[in-house]
Amino acid sequence: MYSLSTPLSRVKGVGPALEKSFADAGITTVKELLLHIPFRYEDRSSRVKVADLKVGEVVTLMGKILNPRNFYKGRRSIQSATLVDESGKVKLMWFNNPHVIDRFRVAADFLVSGKLSDRGTIVQPTVETFKQDGDSVHTGRLVPIYPTIVGLPAGTLRKILKEVVDHLTVKNDSLAQSRVELHGFMALEESLRQLHFPASEEKIVTARERLALEELVQLILHSHQLKEQWRSLNQAPAIELPAKQFGQVGKALPFPLTAAQQRCLQEVLTDLSQTVPMNRLLLGDVGSGKTAVAGLACQQMLSHGLHCCLITPTQILAQQHAQSLQKLFPEMKIAVVTSQTAKKLEVSTVPTLFVGTHAILSRLSEIEPGLLIYDEQHRFGVSQRSAAFGLQRQPHLLTLTATPIPRTLLLTIFSHLSLSVIDELPPGRKPVKSWLVPNGKREDAYAWIAKELRKDTQAAQALVICPFIDHSENEAFENVAAAADLYEELSEKFTQMEAQRTFEGGPIKVELLHGRMSKKEQQAVTQDLFAQKVDVLVTTPIVEVGLDLPAANIIVIEAAERFGLASLHQLRGRVGRAGQQAYCLLFTTSKALNVKERLQQFCETHDGLKLAEQDLQRRGAGDIFGTQQHGLDQLLFANWTNLQLVTEAKRVTDQLIAQHQDWHSPLESAFAHYSQDEQVPLAN
Ligand code: ADP
Ligand code: MG
Repeated sequence: MYSLSTPLSRVKGVGPALEKSFADAGITTVKELLLHIPFRYEDRSSRVKVADLKVGEVVTLMGKILNPRNFYKGRRSIQSATLVDESGKVKLMWFNNPHVIDRFRVAADFLVSGKLSDRGTIVQPTVETFKQDGDSVHTGRLVPIYPTIVGLPAGTLRKILKEVVDHLTVKNDSLAQSRVELHGFMALEESLRQLHFPASEEKIVTARERLALEELVQLILHSHQLKEQWRSLNQAPAIELPAKQFGQVGKALPFPLTAAQQRCLQEVLTDLSQTVPMNRLLLGDVGSGKTAVAGLACQQMLSHGLHCCLITPTQILAQQHAQSLQKLFPEMKIAVVTSQTAKKLEVSTVPTLFVGTHAILSRLSEIEPGLLIYDEQHRFGVSQRSAAFGLQRQPHLLTLTATPIPRTLLLTIFSHLSLSVIDELPPGRKPVKSWLVPNGKREDAYAWIAKELRKDTQAAQALVICPFIDHSENEAFENVAAAADLYEELSEKFTQMEAQRTFEGGPIKVELLHGRMSKKEQQAVTQDLFAQKVDVLVTTPIVEVGLDLPAANIIVIEAAERFGLASLHQLRGRVGRAGQQAYCLLFTTSKALNVKERLQQFCETHDGLKLAEQDLQRRGAGDIFGTQQHGLDQLLFANWTNLQLVTEAKRVTDQLIAQHQDWHSPLESAFAHYSQDEQVPLAN
């Protein structure tokens, strides 16, 4: 029997070589192995007789193997054999897989999964010996497909997982054993078993729900503990700011604040005048003026003799922020901190705003800031302290983000955060004109794009976002392949259109960018993009997110129905960055009525938060945080859009808290990845 903590070396079938491969992948215990989650399942459960084989259907056959053969065609080795059952026989074929033949040396019944080609053979089928008294592993069932572990053949990995789940006991199913009522959830042990070797599609869903519950409860408890801890600190530097002065703040700016900015600023200033440290999220679309609000908060802190820090995701952004803030606040003392300068940082007595990447965090004890701001930090301060920052006193914390986190989620899960929303753009901003393009108008749309790109009134660039085919991994092979195909197609299309003189002004240069290209290739393309030598960029959803191209004014999104509305909105935010009129074209081949309705709604709505709420209400279908790399999508099992489950997890957590139960999931360490980094500096 294995428990969650059993070292992998004790598992049957894991010798030193495999142990090493697993260890290299960070897997040393049964628990870690069980959290190597299938990214999909192949349905090989349909058992048929040879006589009933149909071309192209994945099925499993059972029978005897005759005439196993190994031969060469040029440099390729080919293996062939014949499977016979009582209804007939069919030819099997493999390439470069001599070992498969060895398995047929034993006289036994074999299970064979694969699909019949139109030439009457089954090519590259999966084979396994039929066991009278055991489950099949690779055939005849829903078969788990795992992310690859280097040095481990897929079949071996699956076999070891089967061995583990067949002999697994989870004694510390602490949620089931707690005094909390769980309504109809499966036991943890069973859910782990079903996750890997499900008895049916439905079992996959219920197993994942049970595991998601475990994860959400842990997360909500974390948040709760953080809130308690945060409140108890109660020693942040409170600035004295009489309420009637609030209205004066910001008067010196070159523009009047929007009403939303004013409201948010008030909320922030109110927090800053308390000794309970602020932990607030300032949420607003790109360009809504978050930085200006943050700058005003800093201005108040600085005028009360307190240093401030602004942490940015990249060095370039630090530079940009420093410059634009200096323009807005000419008197402010701003210092850009790089990882080099951080090492010998001199903290003067003049109140200063330090702007830089997380390198600043290593100098916090010298700076002793009164206010710490994270820009576009997507982790929302869920984390616990994992290292002491050596601070004497607790800074106030403000996180700026353009990720639309629905209020509902914040209230249930991130209850330790207060929320301010800038739900209004400064006047004069042009919303991105968005259209759902009917399929019949595709060619017209390309012609329009070509003309738009060749207008000489302004710089122009188009981004084409490929469908998210495989959500399991952002740069999954399928996604990249789709991008490559589309790139070929578009290159050809624009060349033809040019030959037919559909537009004027020289050839349109199309480029491809995705995460599986070498760093060097990526760099070359990126450089050409910024130099505007590229007119159309075809890319996968993920790479594109990191790019900030001021000239980009058109975005085309393929298979738009696969994205959540909030994700679409964030993609749309990538164009028109320089204030020019920008356009978003959605394509979909889906004929479903609700898809069209939803996308149409998207085209008419420009409020990211509203779109995120809509995503949330449509249970499960979309992924709010789909294309962003941040803490929220690092959940192992839970899906933010499953509001029902989130609510259930909240109920369970509230009960645990009410009963003063100090609960820990036996899987906790695996869930903790979102809390490992040190982003919530706490004073000693
Ligand atoms: P965010 O950080 O939310 O993306 P910024 O604070 O960088 O947005 O603001 C975007 C641009 O709009 C900046 O150039 C900023 O100076 C300007 N801006 C901010 N607030 C206003 C306002 N109320 N009126 C006009 N322009 C504004
Ligand atoms: Mg910004």
